[in-house]
Amino acid sequence: MNDEQLLRYSRHILLPQIGIEGQEAILAARVLVVGAGGLGSPAALYLAAAGVGTLVLADGDTVDLTNLQRQILHSQEGVGRLKVESGRDSLARINPLCQVEAISQRLEGSLLEDQVAAADLVLDCSDNFATRHAINRACVRHRKPLVSGAAVRFDGQVSVFDLRQPAAPCYHCLFPEGEDVEEVRCAVMGVFAPITGIIGTVQAAEALKLLAGCGETLNGRLLLLDALSMDWRSIRLQKDAGCLVCSGM
Ligand SMILES: [Zn+2]
Repeated sequence: MNDEQLLRYSRHILLPQIGIEGQEAILAARVLVVGAGGLGSPAALYLAAAGVGTLVLADGDTVDLTNLQRQILHSQEGVGRLKVESGRDSLARINPLCQVEAISQRLEGSLLEDQVAAADLVLDCSDNFATRHAINRACVRHRKPLVSGAAVRFDGQVSVFDLRQPAAPCYHCLFPEGEDVEEVRCAVMGVFAPITGIIGTVQAAEALKLLAGCGETLNGRLLLLDALSMDWRSIRLQKDAGCLVCSGM
């Protein structure tokens, strides 16, 4: 680290759980953030500010006026622009040392595989089950830690699937695909603005802990927030021995 970096990251370096070594791991990391919306906004802002070396931001959408109520990576001038380009500009204003790679399309197929394989860690900040399951399958295949968040109305949930560990459950163990689960998307549902900020920020915190190797993550736990009562609950998750995605891995 040079003098500027030592100053910029000094409040992390002062934490014995992170220190120089942890901060260097953060600086060397390549993190994939899928979705530059409500969850991806705070997650990417904190990861860039905290010094993640390379952030890959993937989103095929453009900034819409209805996004600005909660998607704090974007501003009024960004309306109509690609979210990943608006996002890259915002992140560069906060930390020009963070390299941002913008992928302006929905991440799927071989592009998803390649990006997951190249990443040290993946944040699922998407808003639909098809993408969530595709990201999970790629993370299981490449044994990458997955930090998954979701938020709608006043409800949020967040978990870590540390798929480097053979005993870790995957997203599919928790939400088997094809089950009759109601798809509730922020795009069409109401969403309380700060709930996406809270959950996306927890995702950033878990990602930084995973990179720095400190503390105990949400691996094997699902954290649930009801923001109307501001009640947090945490439930233990088990690997499903019959899971079609991760059993036998
Ligand atoms: Zn599974």
